[in-house]
Amino acid sequence: AVPVIAVDGPTASGKGTLAAQVAQRLGYHLLDSGALYRATALAAQEAGVSLDDEAGLATLAAGLDLRFADHRVFLGGRDITDPLRLEATGGLASRVSVHPAVRQALHALQLGFRRLPGLVADGRDMGTVIFPEAELKVYLTATARQRAERRQRQLAERGVCAKLDELCADLEQRDRRDQTRAVAPLKPAEDALLLDNSELGIEESVQRVLGWWQQ
Ligand code: C5P
Repeated sequence: AVPVIAVDGPTASGKGTLAAQVAQRLGYHLLDSGALYRATALAAQEAGVSLDDEAGLATLAAGLDLRFADHRVFLGGRDITDPLRLEATGGLASRVSVHPAVRQALHALQLGFRRLPGLVADGRDMGTVIFPEAELKVYLTATARQRAERRQRQLAERGVCAKLDELCADLEQRDRRDQTRAVAPLKPAEDALLLDNSELGIEESVQRVLGWWQQ
């Protein structure tokens, strides 16, 4: 069987960076499942499909022509890396992701990332729904304030100035939507190991996960 490490947690908890680092150290594949929801949201905007049109969104999700290469993401051959990363796109993705039919459409696509020598899967429901048999499940936590500060620094690096209060409110709204949706709500799997990275640097978090993996 192909080993899987599931990394779940709320927005801006540092999951993406952690998952990418762990995948790199182990030479494993990486699944950024949020990118699939974000790409579906962008595709919907372009096609003029409403974010409430569950069937229309599911059709788009099922037919996504996505390619990941060299840290870039291509949709139908077009580089969508920059729009994909926008805060606004994350918000749209959160609205797209409440629809069960969309989650269903993206399920098989996500399973396809499980290839030798192994997979690190980053998302909200990796350990609970998509890879419930994962050998290691990590659930990252950090307060909304700390996550907002992290997001603010990330944005500043890209030359974007954002207000902390607004970022914090935005994260909390997105968390609430993710935690209260009917299907695959954001929550730790019963057998997940909790990692509060509020006080940890990225390297410390990576070492913690690699340590668990080697046990
Ligand atoms: O992780 P990221 O910010 O890219 O995810 C964007 C949105 O996609 C999340 O807020 C969440 O609503 C949704 N998502 C999800 N399930 C996943 C990954 C992301 O519902 N496995």
